[in-house]
Amino acid sequence: YQAKRQGGGYALYRTGASEPLTAMTLESGLHRALERQEFRLEYQPQLDTRTGELVGAEALLRWQHPELGLILPGEFIPLAEVTGLIVPIGAWVLRQACLQAAAWVKQVPHLRMAVNLSARQFQQPDLISTVTRAMKAAGLEPHHLELELTESMLVQVQDAETTLERLKELGVRVVVDDFGTGYSNLAYLKQYPIDALKIDATFTAKVGGELALAMRDEVLVKAVMNLAHALDLAVTVEGVERPEQLEFLRRNNCDYVQGYLLGPPQEAGQLMKMFPELAAQ
Ligand code: C2E
Ligand code: CA
Ligand code: CA
Ligand code: CA
Repeated sequence: YQAKRQGGGYALYRTGASEPLTAMTLESGLHRALERQEFRLEYQPQLDTRTGELVGAEALLRWQHPELGLILPGEFIPLAEVTGLIVPIGAWVLRQACLQAAAWVKQVPHLRMAVNLSARQFQQPDLISTVTRAMKAAGLEPHHLELELTESMLVQVQDAETTLERLKELGVRVVVDDFGTGYSNLAYLKQYPIDALKIDATFTAKVGGELALAMRDEVLVKAVMNLAHALDLAVTVEGVERPEQLEFLRRNNCDYVQGYLLGPPQEAGQLMKMFPELAAQ
């Protein structure tokens, strides 16, 4: 099978076939994927920029389809969103990530687990109890859980502020994901109870590179980091792939880094090999 770009998204083709698999094919599979245990999580490490110490991991969803093989979230999350299946799938992700986090926190006490929330999940009236139950079932304390929400969700969703306040009362951390790709209205930064910004890879692709190409991006990234720190928000930069980027981020007081350079998303066992401090001694 092959994924090819089509319109704004992707379509899956059987190798050699000219007709893409329909959304129906994926949707019927998606309905059964949970009960058939076809989902799994990979974890990508997040490091302290200055010390290089492991501070956390982001849980990233994978679908191991029995016929299609590995399907990445970009290909099925949009469909899961429109069908509403993202709600039970997202609840599974939360439970699973909390269980893994609870195990790792025993070894690395300050560790945080970041979980992506979709707009649909964020709007569920029972979001707070879903999150609470996942943490309770795992025996995970709330300050170890970090929920990643996108900028557009915060701006578009009705009563986003109230939901955020309830999450804060619960004691979980809230991070704005893909910062800079959504809205230019920054008013929410001051108003909403958020803990950190995650700067999208598109802004940092050129930093630390050839001066003429890098300059505008470097100015922007520095400005965003200063703004965040002035508002008492931590900054994570994602998509760090090159040593020059990391060097630039170090020089400019970026708090946390994540990207292929520091470690790819990988299965829990792999991550524990990469960071032996996660494994029980
Ligand atoms: P995201 O939250 O922005 O996650 C970061 C994406 O960048 C991940 O793609 C990750 O594999 C990829 N990445 C990591 N390091 C690098 C790097 O150095 N360079 C580049 N170019 N990319 C890097 P992935 O795993 O395919 O996930 C794509 C998106 O799917 C995520 O973007 C997130 O929006 C969504 N997603 C993933 N898991 C979940 C989930 O459990 N629930 C929800 N609602 N969405 C999820
Ligand atoms: Ca994310
Ligand atoms: Ca992101
Ligand atoms: Ca993204």
